[in-house]
Amino acid sequence: MTEIQDFVDGVVSNSLSDASVEAWMQNVFDNGMSAQDTVEFTGAMLRSGQVLTWPSDWKHLVVDKHSTGGIGDKVSLILAPALAACGLKCPMIAGRGLAHTGGTLDKLESLPGYNVSISPEQALRQVTEIGCMIAGQTGQFAPADKRMYAIRDVSGLIASVPLITGSILSKKAAEGLAALVMDIKVGKATFMKTVEEAQELAASIVSTGEGLGITTKVTLSEMDTPLGFAAGNALEVLESVETLRGAGPADLEELVCIQGGILLQATGLAETVDEGAFRIHDSLIDGTAHAKFVEMCTAQGVASSTFDSEQNLLLALGLLDPALKTTEFTVPRPGWIAAIDAMSLGQVVLELGGGRTTLGAEIDRGVGFVLEGHIGSLMVVDEPWITIYHRESLSDAHRALIEGAITLSNEPIDAESRVL
Ligand code: URA
Repeated sequence: MTEIQDFVDGVVSNSLSDASVEAWMQNVFDNGMSAQDTVEFTGAMLRSGQVLTWPSDWKHLVVDKHSTGGIGDKVSLILAPALAACGLKCPMIAGRGLAHTGGTLDKLESLPGYNVSISPEQALRQVTEIGCMIAGQTGQFAPADKRMYAIRDVSGLIASVPLITGSILSKKAAEGLAALVMDIKVGKATFMKTVEEAQELAASIVSTGEGLGITTKVTLSEMDTPLGFAAGNALEVLESVETLRGAGPADLEELVCIQGGILLQATGLAETVDEGAFRIHDSLIDGTAHAKFVEMCTAQGVASSTFDSEQNLLLALGLLDPALKTTEFTVPRPGWIAAIDAMSLGQVVLELGGGRTTLGAEIDRGVGFVLEGHIGSLMVVDEPWITIYHRESLSDAHRALIEGAITLSNEPIDAESRVL
């Protein structure tokens, strides 16, 4: 047995004290870890818990994505059904948010009835028949991470490339994946602030994923501005449904198509990433991705009538609740939108109850915002640029954060691809 395996065994069996676990991780934090040791470390964390297995006739088609997270990032809700529509299998195990807006599970729970705890039998049936699921952990995946993450969180040991790699990949590898695409966000509204930092994490994720036998690809994408127009749990589900119907924002659609194209190419279902991306785009236009989303949601407990009309969907999402107020903010002067500070807006959503800071805290799924323009939009005088959805009154501090979040330019601005 190696030192790494002994350490992970000691974490799981509790034979190591919190102080010993922290000291070991502090050493990794300070000195890093070789690529080979990171594979061994992640493998030991993976084997500390349950690993899903799939039938041999399609286990080579089992894929997933992971994102380091950002404001308005709803890619998972769209990509999982789009991948299923293109013939892949996506057994996505997602998390709850401990951030400015909820996580993928919180978003989906804006749909009344959506059941995130499905049995391993239902997971197998659903992935076989429909091709996708999005659920919480069904069993005990990577229990070593649970204890290590809790200790890292309170001792300032989150920002370590090998520790992040082990934490993320041990949980994703437990899904029994053939291929994984990881979206590493870079920018002011995420924990990787520079491209260099993101590249370091990307290299570690790729070498470790490949070392575990998973075809692993990475995208780096900009996270200074919100992704798409909507942020907040119910509003993000609404925007996801619009995107699944081929009417989504260009930046969101592009990210979905590129990540899906990468996975179709990685599994051999497309010759090139571009061909795969076009297939994903087709599934958004021809209704097949939306049909998979409806199948997935109804299999997981949502009434099918929810998706019969726009009115039913808005009602189900609670967005017609009279107690939910909307406040528009207008531009202070005409100009082209040059920047929208996702971090400040995320802070407002969090403080209005749309996110959580402690595990298990209640979340207000109706709270959030919808941008009325995005980078490059020309705004005329007094035109609204954002609508805030809230239940409690906006404080002066909230108003100041919102008003300070937009930067206008006197010159035309081109919206660039978010993929770096
Ligand atoms: N997300 C995780 O699951 N683990 C980390 O260490 C960082 C982000």
